[in-house]
Amino acid sequence: MSFTIDLHAHSNISDGLLTPLELVAHAAEHQVNVLALTDHDDTSGLAIAAVEAQRLGLQLINGVEISVTWKKRTVHIVGLKIDPEYAPLKSGLAAIRAGRHLRAAGMAASLDKAGISGSLEGAYHYAQEGIISRTHFARFLVNSGVAKDNKAVFKNYLVKGKPGYFEHVWASLEDAVSWIVGSGGVAVIAHPGRYDLGRTNMLLLLEEFRALGGAAIEVVTGSHTVDQYAEFAKYAHQFDLKASLGSDYHGKGISFMEMGRLPGLPSNCVPVWHDWPEAAH
Ligand code: AMP
Ligand code: MN
Ligand code: MN
Ligand code: MN
Repeated sequence: MSFTIDLHAHSNISDGLLTPLELVAHAAEHQVNVLALTDHDDTSGLAIAAVEAQRLGLQLINGVEISVTWKKRTVHIVGLKIDPEYAPLKSGLAAIRAGRHLRAAGMAASLDKAGISGSLEGAYHYAQEGIISRTHFARFLVNSGVAKDNKAVFKNYLVKGKPGYFEHVWASLEDAVSWIVGSGGVAVIAHPGRYDLGRTNMLLLLEEFRALGGAAIEVVTGSHTVDQYAEFAKYAHQFDLKASLGSDYHGKGISFMEMGRLPGLPSNCVPVWHDWPEAAH
């Protein structure tokens, strides 16, 4: 049997388009055998996803993607095999979600100032019961004709120096790693190739992450180039970190990558799942 693993994906509990149930079905349709649901700052989709995964014969890994501020930059830390009931993780994520509401109000005020009104209601309309994120503001900006597409939004709005940007401080790297590891999970740096860090700061981040108990980095992800697969495989080796693989799927039209399309890890990597019973095959 072929083996396909995807350790990074979003449902509409955060900023994906599919419900947790639909996401699991979508993964199964794309021949994924092991799936981690890793919603931003929220684990409330895991229970229902697990029920559907069991029904479809797919292994579900409990995951989360935590928003972190490190040296004034946003970095995402994925937690895999977490216990969503671990109290420090639960309260830490609740605090991040509360911060998202304040940030959303600040983003909307900035868009108001630029003559774009109605964005707060618009973004919450798309967020529904889930977390509020820039993706929901992006959907409002595209669907109300302000921007052509998602790409145009993240170029002209919601980023530093542009309308809709609001400076926000997320969790610390130390807290995020300790919540994940304390819950029995594995901490993974998400899509390291997307951070505009420079080599010196990348080395510092990897060193600090490792010292805090971080165990892996994403080497193959939907937003890395083939060159970046090799680059981050090298960093993983250098820092004795395991390697992870995930599409970062968000839904049709807003994803970097469809599910089940990624190549395997470079052969010099130790897969983060190498000793997981869920991924034995
Ligand atoms: P937030 O956590 O609210 O800052 O929202 C971040 C989310 O916006 C990411 O998880 C992506 O889903 C999306 N995003 C950020 N940058 C881009 C981009 N350049 N193109 C498309 N989506 C993006
Ligand atoms: Mn996202
Ligand atoms: Mn991310
Ligand atoms: Mn993600």
